[in-house]
Amino acid sequence: MVVKEEIYKGLPASKGIAIGEVFVYKTDSSLYGFTENEIIPEKELADYDDALQHSRKELNKIFNLAKEKLDDKNLQIFEAQLQFLNDQYFHTKVKNKIITEKKAAYRAFSEEIKILEESLIASNSDYLRERISDIEDIKNRILRNLNKGRLFSKINENSIVVSRSLTPADMILFSNRNLLGIATDLGGINSHVSVISRSLNIPAIVGMHDISIHISTGEKAIIDGYRGVLIKNPSEDTINEYADKIKHNIEFEKKLEELEKLPSQTKDEKKIKLSVNLEFNNEIDYVVAHFGCDIGLYRTEHMFMECGDFPDEATQYRQYKFLAEHVYPGNVTIRTFDIGGDKILPDSQKELNPFLGWRGIRISLDKEDVMLRQFKAILKASSNNNVKIMLPLVSSVDEVLKSREIMNRAMEELNKANIKYDDKIKLGIMVEVPSVIMLIEKFAEVSDFFSIGTNDLIQYILAVDRDSNIVSHLYQKFHPSVIRAIDHIVRYSNENKLPLSVCGEMASDPYAALLLVGMGVTELSVEPTSFLRIKRLIRLIDSEYASNVAGNVLKLTTEREVRQYVMKSFNEFVNETVI
Ligand code: PEP
Ligand code: MG
Repeated sequence: MVVKEEIYKGLPASKGIAIGEVFVYKTDSSLYGFTENEIIPEKELADYDDALQHSRKELNKIFNLAKEKLDDKNLQIFEAQLQFLNDQYFHTKVKNKIITEKKAAYRAFSEEIKILEESLIASNSDYLRERISDIEDIKNRILRNLNKGRLFSKINENSIVVSRSLTPADMILFSNRNLLGIATDLGGINSHVSVISRSLNIPAIVGMHDISIHISTGEKAIIDGYRGVLIKNPSEDTINEYADKIKHNIEFEKKLEELEKLPSQTKDEKKIKLSVNLEFNNEIDYVVAHFGCDIGLYRTEHMFMECGDFPDEATQYRQYKFLAEHVYPGNVTIRTFDIGGDKILPDSQKELNPFLGWRGIRISLDKEDVMLRQFKAILKASSNNNVKIMLPLVSSVDEVLKSREIMNRAMEELNKANIKYDDKIKLGIMVEVPSVIMLIEKFAEVSDFFSIGTNDLIQYILAVDRDSNIVSHLYQKFHPSVIRAIDHIVRYSNENKLPLSVCGEMASDPYAALLLVGMGVTELSVEPTSFLRIKRLIRLIDSEYASNVAGNVLKLTTEREVRQYVMKSFNEFVNETVI
């Protein structure tokens, strides 16, 4: 019988391709099957302590294993779990319940952990909500040890693990059994498991809804972490096609490394500056050592998510100083918090359209003390003159002026305290709201530089939510209106010698990046994983040819025409498919 190939879609959390047999991993503490005999509190207390001790031992073992594989940032996940195991306040509550309510240890523990989980679920912080999976892991571990269960970390070697959800600890243990890839029903691309899969280079797809019930252990599958696609029962042809892709990718990545030391310039030697967008510290060493480039966009929001609040000045200063020192003599452009209103408002006040609501600079200006603190921390880190500041979601000139005022106040405070900083620091804006383009010359009077944030610019020009699955086909980077808007900013900036870069995803997209170069963009800030690919393409293209393509594109009417023309023109020139 010929089995039919089936395709399931999810969110691409970690790039790469895996071909292999599936292992469906089930984590369900109800499987542990507790039985309640007569409760003897002393025995329950001793069992509980025993379970905690066992859990500590296990976790320490995993932690030591993780140390060899992960950086400090990701190790913190395990540290947090160990801290929980030592949280006497929590354990005393469990023990009191055992004694006063004569409850079995597993029941008292389950009730207390449920209260904790519910408070996390109710939290407004995405960061705290994502911590639920860490708590789940600890919960299962303690319950299993209460039941004197054995550590279940055995997956079949060389398999693709499919599960409802996975924990960071699962990932580390599995990686020792040559884990090929993962696919989970739950999870977002910023969950810890996604972060770890990226740092371990394991192809991963998350948010697949119910893949764990559609596939069984032993079935064959392909994980395409580039497209976020799982292919169940792949045909011989599909397997061969993907095996070729893997081979090609390995050879291709190796070849790309040869470009590290070569300049980023077109065939006719027009310099195109390439920088990277950065969010986590763990990428910085690699970026500095291999690319030696500037950080064109440093997003600071993750600090807010990690703290569950706006971080204090000292915490921010440490972070910004770390970056400025590491990238020196290169530059880092630090963007002030771009937090969406939905991340900090209580549920009762959630906005219907958070992207049009209290977000980015609007929050900073309403919370002047937060902005003042952030400016001070950035300024303090700028004493080597290699830091710039960028404002997100600007829509009015007033916002820039008000921000400057607050920045000046921050400078005055530092002057009073005799603290050194770059008093000529550049303050620029993200161009991501159409109102900026219509008034570009006025914004130029108050801004030191522009950086086009195409992710937001596209959603605001086309009125298409960038996160929606339903209208994602209408979110079009090659829409002629988007192209004309960008063309307008680029022309203005070049004619008036105002520094301009593009830091949205368009800069990391092969065809779009070439089109941007053709339009006259001279700085692209890209995702680190795209850096060498984009450099390669820039080196393959002729600037005049690209400029002609861009000129012709401006005459076209539909997205399809633009997309097809751009692809055809660049494929023809480089004599291969642009990737
Ligand atoms: C953008 O909007 O293009 C951008 C770079 O900012 P973010 O993706 O952080 O909104
Ligand atoms: Mg943006």
